[in-house]
Amino acid sequence: MTAEPLNSIPSGSTIGIIGGGQLGRMTAIAAANLGYHCHIFCPEERCPASKVSAEFTQAEYTDHEALARFADSVDVVTFEFENIPHESVQLLTEHVLVRPNWDALKISQDRLIEKDFLNQNGISTASYKRATSAEDLKTAVAEIGTPSVLKTVRLGYDGKGQVKVTEDTNLDEAWSTMGSELGVLEGFVPFEREISVIVARAPSGECRAFEPVHNVHTNHILDTTTAPAGISPQLRDKAIAMAEQVATALDIIGLLAVEMFVTNEDDLLVNEIAPRPHNSGHWTMDGCATSQFEQFVRAICGLPLGSTERLHNTVMTNLIGDDVNDWEEILTEPNAHLHLYGKREARTGRKMGHVNRLFPKT
Ligand code: AMP
Repeated sequence: MTAEPLNSIPSGSTIGIIGGGQLGRMTAIAAANLGYHCHIFCPEERCPASKVSAEFTQAEYTDHEALARFADSVDVVTFEFENIPHESVQLLTEHVLVRPNWDALKISQDRLIEKDFLNQNGISTASYKRATSAEDLKTAVAEIGTPSVLKTVRLGYDGKGQVKVTEDTNLDEAWSTMGSELGVLEGFVPFEREISVIVARAPSGECRAFEPVHNVHTNHILDTTTAPAGISPQLRDKAIAMAEQVATALDIIGLLAVEMFVTNEDDLLVNEIAPRPHNSGHWTMDGCATSQFEQFVRAICGLPLGSTERLHNTVMTNLIGDDVNDWEEILTEPNAHLHLYGKREARTGRKMGHVNRLFPKT
């Protein structure tokens, strides 16, 4: 890996962000607070991030000419969306400093590479097996057992491309429902709860984690995040140490979100990692001394990392689809902080905003 420059990218510089969703939007707002300009690169015309940013390039992630022009106009490039082609990242790297590095993106884009990487680094995951056909799936089920979960290896999110497999499941149908040529069958983890840790890592290698939080999903989409997570101090320390270990192994500069299952035996298994801000970190915007978005900007620009101290107990609730219609009522709650993403259409399953409700710190 190439040596990373340790000098900071000063306020007034331009941060290029690949992807224009709400994560980019909230990053751009945090960057503006520190005096940076943001340039968003996104294929969609009216993306949430472009509306709060100084500059916007609307182009496909495969448009090399547009990517080169974008890269030449910014001081550092980062991602709020990691599923962009390898060649595009390589091209960016030839023009400008890119943080985090391509390896971290590549590993997190692919559930198989991700699980192999984690296990090779001594981090446990659910048992898993690769499958490339319905026949393969049958072999995998014989090995992993049921219940299990069949997932697409790439491009799956919020439960898309996932099928639960029980002993009654028709495996030919499960394979076609999953809808991809490469799948991974995972043993179903009967978890006690799901938690996540978000850790920032600076160019110097310093890591600073937010405390673990408890995540509840409904229909595979994150519904609420509660801080603190309600786990023992030992498990808390273990979860943070694991997240820092993964961030260091990936040589991340920026943020890493690590989603974990707490098993019934009080063990931790990693489910997924993401080298960027994460929905389960939105609570930090109002509940912490530094938000995950400001921390992200600090990390990629080589600024001192901020305090991750929790100032309030916080419950973050996603506003999905029509939930957003409650905005006026939420504004009347004295302990609620509303964040809306400026999306015009409240489609089913679409993340429209979130609310952070603050409670006294315990
Ligand atoms: P993912 O897209 O992998 O983050 O999965 C979305 C959600 O599905 C997770 O947050 C869990 O609630 C559930 N899930 C995914 N994989 C498993 C598993 N192997 N065992 C139990 N639940 C799972």
